Amino acid sequence: MTLSPQAPTVISAIVPAYNEGQGLAIAIKTIAETLETSGSSWEIIVVDDGSNDQTFQQVDLLSTHDHRIKGVALSRNFGKEAAMLAGLEHATGEAVIIIDADLQHPPALIPDMIEQWRLGAQIVHAVKRDRKEDSFGQRASAYVINHLISSLGGINIKNSSDFKLLDREIVDIIVHQLPERERFFRGLTSWLGFSEHYLYFDVASRQGDESKWSFMSLLELAITALTSFTSLPLRIITFLGFATLILGFFVIADTLISLMYGQAVSGFATIIICLLLIGSFIMISLGIIGEYIAKIYEEVKNRPHYLIKARIGVDAKKRH
Ligand code: UDP
Ligand code: MG
Repeated sequence: MTLSPQAPTVISAIVPAYNEGQGLAIAIKTIAETLETSGSSWEIIVVDDGSNDQTFQQVDLLSTHDHRIKGVALSRNFGKEAAMLAGLEHATGEAVIIIDADLQHPPALIPDMIEQWRLGAQIVHAVKRDRKEDSFGQRASAYVINHLISSLGGINIKNSSDFKLLDREIVDIIVHQLPERERFFRGLTSWLGFSEHYLYFDVASRQGDESKWSFMSLLELAITALTSFTSLPLRIITFLGFATLILGFFVIADTLISLMYGQAVSGFATIIICLLLIGSFIMISLGIIGEYIAKIYEEVKNRPHYLIKARIGVDAKKRH
């Protein structure tokens, strides 16, 4: 571990924003005020993830009043993971904080995060204490997704959020040494190791309209999370294969014994059931394998994670 600087020069805040025009100005102002109290210089980089509302115009307006507020606009909606990466690649600070644009991640926690970083933590995770605001469905899906990944992938992301502070060293590792296309930021930061610290916060209600995640995008995230951290589903298929093989031996033995005792082998229904069961096992297995192949295909295509169509206040050459 490297020693964290005592007097940091710049702290960057990255704010991914997708159609957040409504509440963005308030959120940015609140974040800016909190950063102001930290006693360091700061910058806020809003990454407009292909919004089709006033989000980027808002950033433009804010930056004319304060040049420390910067913006990057992606050419279309690439998803939050890509938006966060774009922010990380453009951030110049010694510490980088990633925070949502809807004030659900309380900026009030920022001073504590900076404090922990100054004390030596290289990753400060902000962990959700409660998800009271979310509907039962949202909570249930978050629970299932987090538990699945935690138990299968062997990394702890229970109740974790993307609200984190990363030391410059960690940011450089994420940007330069983790070239994978499909990213699951929460999992990656746990996987890295290094000195971590956990802070807890209550999820506030959303400023502005409803959540930007659809059920499909959550499912997408869960599949990405699973396939990028574990190949256990593939192993389960193999076990399943052996289980049906053993079952098959029992049925053969049973049939032979019946024949020896001169009983006709009946069981048209059994055949249909076996066919259906094994058929569906095979199809599910193919689907699982397909998911992994699809991920490999995505990686091999090696396309950029995002494309930028406009910048405010950030250096174009900064793109690595
Ligand atoms: N977001 C994004 N791209 C997307 C979806 C969301 O940049 O495709 C941003 C969004 O603007 C917000 C953050 O990610 O700042 C979290 O999104 P949201 O509040 O909709 O999700 P939740 O709070 O339910 O996790
Ligand atoms: Mg939110």
